[in-house]
Amino acid sequence: FVVLKNICKRFGQNTVIGDLDLEIEKGSLVTLLGPSGCGKTTVLRMVAGLEKPTSGQIFIDGEDVTDRSVQHRDICMVFQSYALFPHMSLYGNVAYGLKNLKLPADEISQRVDDALKLVNLEGMGDRFVDQISGGQQQRVALARALVLKPKVLLFDEPLSNLDANLRRSMRETIRDLQKRFNITSLYVTHDQAEAFAVSDKVVVMKDGDIMQQGAPSELYQVPDSLFMANFMGDAN
Ligand code: ATP
Repeated sequence: FVVLKNICKRFGQNTVIGDLDLEIEKGSLVTLLGPSGCGKTTVLRMVAGLEKPTSGQIFIDGEDVTDRSVQHRDICMVFQSYALFPHMSLYGNVAYGLKNLKLPADEISQRVDDALKLVNLEGMGDRFVDQISGGQQQRVALARALVLKPKVLLFDEPLSNLDANLRRSMRETIRDLQKRFNITSLYVTHDQAEAFAVSDKVVVMKDGDIMQQGAPSELYQVPDSLFMANFMGDAN
């Protein structure tokens, strides 16, 4: 559903992504996992349209979107900094994108209420961002993305600002919503436990290359190189 073909990305002389192929099947969640600087965020930003590949192509739902801007890719992003509007209510934050689409007011209100309910913030639409916890703010960010029903959802270290308990419960929320809505998702993290908890497929990266990819259980049971065996072992 999302396909990256022969993607290469250079910043000046620095080749950050060599020649990368990647596929995300419809309705699945694929995670890019690897240490800081391995190029995960750069890949995500290329799928988003925030960064242009030096060469190669990106397809979403069968269409070549390589030269399309962010606005024309039907994607939504959830960041580690929630990027909410502090001066707006939760309702206002979630409704923002829908208002830009110029949908009728009653449809907006129905969709926002549904989205807040999904992330367990039912009835809290009137609160302001500074009146809720970090975990709740991340739920609002999730609702704001879900309400737009994008073709593809992109997550950039979405849980790294949360404490350990919240991280664990948010993993379940993300997994649950992603499955329920069959949303095609690309997720970036350096946290192995998180990657394994939320993903259908984990793609392990090092220095801009894919070292191995597969279902979490597969990576555990059959690491296909010494690097992978050590990498998996490090987490235990
Ligand atoms: P992190 O988890 O720290 O964000 P990452 O795996 O996501 O790491 P990237 O942010 O994709 O890695 O960065 C990969 C490499 O590309 C790094 O060496 C970084 O310095 C370089 N890089 C990223 N963006 C730019 C840019 N706009 N200009 C120049 N170099 C960049």
